[in-house]
Amino acid sequence: MEEPIIITDPDSDRYHTFGYISWWKQEVVRNATVLVVGAGALGNEVLKNLALMGIGNVIIADFDTIEDSNLSRSVLFRSSDRGRRKVDAAAERVKELNPDVNVKTWHGDINFEMGLGVFRHVDAIVGCLDNREARLSINRFSWAVDKPWVDGAIQELMGIVRVFWPGRGACYECTLSDLDYQIIGLRYSCPLLARENILQGKVPTTPTSASIVAAFQTQEALKLIHGMEVQPGKAMMINGLTNDVYTTEYPVKDFCMSHSRLEPIVELPDAQADKTTLADLFTIARVELGQEAALEFDGELVVSMYCPSCDETTPFFKRMARLYEQEQTCPTCGTKRDLNLTHRINGDEDFLARTLAEIDVPPLSIIRARNGDKRVYYEITGDKETFMTFE
Ligand SMILES: [Zn+2]
Ligand SMILES: [Zn+2]
Repeated sequence: MEEPIIITDPDSDRYHTFGYISWWKQEVVRNATVLVVGAGALGNEVLKNLALMGIGNVIIADFDTIEDSNLSRSVLFRSSDRGRRKVDAAAERVKELNPDVNVKTWHGDINFEMGLGVFRHVDAIVGCLDNREARLSINRFSWAVDKPWVDGAIQELMGIVRVFWPGRGACYECTLSDLDYQIIGLRYSCPLLARENILQGKVPTTPTSASIVAAFQTQEALKLIHGMEVQPGKAMMINGLTNDVYTTEYPVKDFCMSHSRLEPIVELPDAQADKTTLADLFTIARVELGQEAALEFDGELVVSMYCPSCDETTPFFKRMARLYEQEQTCPTCGTKRDLNLTHRINGDEDFLARTLAEIDVPPLSIIRARNGDKRVYYEITGDKETFMTFE
């Protein structure tokens, strides 16, 4: 049975025209949460479109600030915004365009600083990025928690739009060539400097290619939200010079590093990063996995630093990937300190009274507990209520 189409009053309903579209469900759009990663040229256009459509909740993630050179491709920014965080200006303008939209801003490095659970609890992820490493991160996160994401890329008058869906066709990493890995490797080769070196891509872009590609990205997100058919693992290639538009399918790589799902994920509704201690987590893990359960992290954690000149050890507790080079310098004597690193906590450490936040675990993280072959992924689900709050 076709559902009846309800036509509203155009005078008082801003979504009136969508009512004529047979499959469009405004309440589905209103209830959806979309994570937009990147608030640059593509992000501006995607956010504008989502706002016009009346998306319910949007998380805007970006680490950058606004400079005048952004203004030629960013419909949401003004010259008076110079120096502001992109997320803040974008959020303000989205609210201006449509006060119905609930917005959450998140300022940080998507590669290392967002809890994986955030990806689990959104309906669609739109990548509006200008670099390979952030795409690769999002791709691995989306695989880990089994969520589709929409990628967009622009260069001059060219554009690419792709939906990647774990287990359905090729993923982003399947499409990477040896050269891509080399470029990513160059940036990763010096982990201490990785964060400071993430520069804006120097790829030239135009407001037209940004709006064309972002429009398709938003449409794909809209289809995902409605549960409509998409074409994962395929690329829509748009050549604005010749006006050729075609679709091409990528082969799935047999040994793609991204193809790894976290299973099983166990939600811990009472756990919160700033309240739950490592000891608390061990109590839970030992019930499930036995006394030898250990907690493991994908990256290295700097537990302490040792200054050989001062012969002094200082507790530190910051993830290596988030460490700035200057932090390694001894504040007393200026010597470069040795790092005491770990990626595995066995349960006999002297810092188990620390909360997860106190060992640099972000809200809504997912943490691996393991005993031999048995593993469980604990989501710090209690953070959902505090993290997924929108204004
Ligand atoms: Zn792959
Ligand atoms: Zn020293």
